[in-house]
Amino acid sequence: MLLRHTPEEIVEREALTIQPAKTCQPVGAMYAALGIHKCLPHSHGSQGCCAYHRSALTRHYKEPVMAATSSFTEGSSVFGGQANLLDAITNIFTIYNPDVIAVHTTCLSETIGDDIPQITAKARDEGRVPNGKFIIRANTPSYVGSHVTGFGNMIKGIIDGFATRGTKSGHINIIPGYVEPSDMSEVKHITKSMGVDTVMFPDTSAVLNGPQTGRYEMYPKGGTPISDLQKTGFAKMTLALGPIASGPGAKFLDTKCGVPYEMLSLPIGIRSTDAFVNALRKNGGIVSDELEYERGQVLDVLTDMQQYFHGKKVALVGDPDHLVPLTEFLTDIGFNVRHVVTGTPGKKFIARIKEAAGTEDINVKEASDFFYLHQLIKNEKVDLILGNTYSKYIARDEDIPLVRIGFPIYDRVGHQYFPILGYRGALRLIEKILNALLDYQDKTAPEEKFELVM
Ligand code: SF4
Repeated sequence: MLLRHTPEEIVEREALTIQPAKTCQPVGAMYAALGIHKCLPHSHGSQGCCAYHRSALTRHYKEPVMAATSSFTEGSSVFGGQANLLDAITNIFTIYNPDVIAVHTTCLSETIGDDIPQITAKARDEGRVPNGKFIIRANTPSYVGSHVTGFGNMIKGIIDGFATRGTKSGHINIIPGYVEPSDMSEVKHITKSMGVDTVMFPDTSAVLNGPQTGRYEMYPKGGTPISDLQKTGFAKMTLALGPIASGPGAKFLDTKCGVPYEMLSLPIGIRSTDAFVNALRKNGGIVSDELEYERGQVLDVLTDMQQYFHGKKVALVGDPDHLVPLTEFLTDIGFNVRHVVTGTPGKKFIARIKEAAGTEDINVKEASDFFYLHQLIKNEKVDLILGNTYSKYIARDEDIPLVRIGFPIYDRVGHQYFPILGYRGALRLIEKILNALLDYQDKTAPEEKFELVM
């Protein structure tokens, strides 16, 4: 038992986190920056931070994730990192030739108080930024927030760097939230199927889930083009999917360029996907036969297999934007959601989960950790866990089937290629959940209850 020291008794903790259910802000900022075409993320801090952020993304996607670093030494830690960042900007444009450098800060540069807007302005004044090239920036101190907050901060950086006021055009913006490249493809599939003209940013599809071609490309063909980012201020509206990751950017774009926004849940499960489809319909989209067919397939599987879900207890851990629609979906299809834990802080999370579950009788905690989730499970065992790779320790010790959802997933593949958003994503979610439950039943059923047909 790897976690044999986790006690059943829950003691209120304030100053100690054990196995946080989140990663740090720059990971999210780096991920968002990779969703811009020909963009090189840059970590303004020490090499160790950048190495960690890159390796977290590389392990999750099984793809080489490129990023530069200001490589702080003791000197820059004391006197500030301006000289390092100025040299880095020159070197990056000279050697790696990106169209955009996306600078995010780290705990160290935030603590020093480096003024990134001033440094990047100085770089421009000194001619270090070639014509037609851009630097965008985000403040991502990791002692607050999480990777989801960092993602949201870089979205604001993208808007700050590219969006301008102008005559409104017919398209709408979509900020897809901190979701997989496969999920971003699914969002595009839905908007295309409904015939809606959209600009989605960021877009990591075809960046972190591309094919093996035998050739290394530093800048894959995916990512939102700069020309599209420059149109975001002209959109007639923005659909922000997921209030924590996408909400701040949508609000900022409204303030900066007068683009109104609608905030939606991530389209996970039938109800949330219906809401997304309806929002597109209100903006001129037509619900296609294709989407109706996909929705019907989800309903068909649910009708056929609902008996295996009904009343099963489930624990969820992950990011708030995922957990709310997941709780709603699982409750809708008959699960009894018992424990929901996120590492990302946010007081509204508790009320949103209770509303999604339709009950006050549920254990919910924000800014929390895996240790607490394990204690909850020790006090009330569940039949299924949905969470990232770190959940496997609890699942193994407590002999509970695990469905890997969220970030990071270091020990499986599939999340890059197959969505959990949209109707097709709902189908995949059901398949994964069903397989986990039925595999467990096959493994543990006594001989007289071992079924051929399920
Ligand atoms: S020091 Fe801060 S930014 Fe760097 S890896 Fe740790 S939490 Fe992340």
